[in-house]
Amino acid sequence: MSKKPTAPEFLVDLLNARSPSGDEHEAQAVFDRHIKPHADVYRAVRLGNRIATLNPAGKPVLMLAGHIDEIGLMVTFVNKDGFLYFDTIGGHDRIMISGRRVVIRTANGPVKGVTGKRAVHLMDADDRKKVPERHEMWIDIGATSKPDALRRVSIGDTATYDHEFEMLHGTLGVARAFDDKAGAYVVGETLRRLALEKKSPAASVVAVATTQEEIGVRGATASAYGVDPDFAVVVEVTHATDHPDCDQRKFGEFKLGGGPVITRGPNINPIVYAKLVAAAKSAGIPVQLEGDPRPTGTDARAIQLVRGGVASGVVSIPLRYMHTPSEIVDLADIENTVRLLVEFSKSLKKSDTGVW
Ligand SMILES: [Zn+2]
Repeated sequence: MSKKPTAPEFLVDLLNARSPSGDEHEAQAVFDRHIKPHADVYRAVRLGNRIATLNPAGKPVLMLAGHIDEIGLMVTFVNKDGFLYFDTIGGHDRIMISGRRVVIRTANGPVKGVTGKRAVHLMDADDRKKVPERHEMWIDIGATSKPDALRRVSIGDTATYDHEFEMLHGTLGVARAFDDKAGAYVVGETLRRLALEKKSPAASVVAVATTQEEIGVRGATASAYGVDPDFAVVVEVTHATDHPDCDQRKFGEFKLGGGPVITRGPNINPIVYAKLVAAAKSAGIPVQLEGDPRPTGTDARAIQLVRGGVASGVVSIPLRYMHTPSEIVDLADIENTVRLLVEFSKSLKKSDTGVW
């Protein structure tokens, strides 16, 4: 008997879309398909962001942001024998790169490849202790020469690991890029659920699927300027510290299944923080609290500083093994994050300004 997958289709479609920073086409198409029908106004913009608005005449304007880009590789050089050399898109642990199946997005459709390096048997004792440099690895697409390779791929094509979504156990899922397809799902799904309610919220809710977060929060910077929100909540993933070799004295205490993580600190407007905590309480959602005394490593670091300043918050989904081909998330935390944002969106009153 086959078990039915328990993950929402929109989330699975986003997770399986290949969307390295700057090449987000597949994830844009998924967001368009699932969210456009529920928005009052839906815009595609020059940086590739997708901007879905519910209740455009509402006040205040609340922007919800989740990034649809992911880390990847980019083909930068093909040698005479047809092996592809690459640069990394976003922050990679180089120890993860070799020995993987990858899929290259090309003008003629996907091309399969393998990330190669010299086998362990062919290394001396010193080499074995080292993490390979980027130029000591390549992508092998089975080409026999440079012209043969260039008939199938082009310089600048991007690649992702060929790891799609699967359920692992119980409500735990594993995927290549929960960072931050999970967040993009949450902002889109929040808008969809608000659209299905009989009464619209006082606020205008703008769900933005942002691009190019992994290379410097670039889509969020432009989209926040364009949307010009009063409030913003960024939905990201954060490190679960409930696995071995993770010193909680350094990294704090966050666990899978513990609920969304609400951040506090200078990147966070204190009114937004208080309203998020209150929304969680009124909806009966478990949350975890994080203190971050610096600009967060999220789209919120850009959004907060746009124009005259935006009252910003960050809600994160705990995740193990970030930026590896096998990130683990508890789908119950994703669902609770949607419920939290629905409640928060409805709690904003016309008179709320975020001024403190
Ligand atoms: Zn992220």
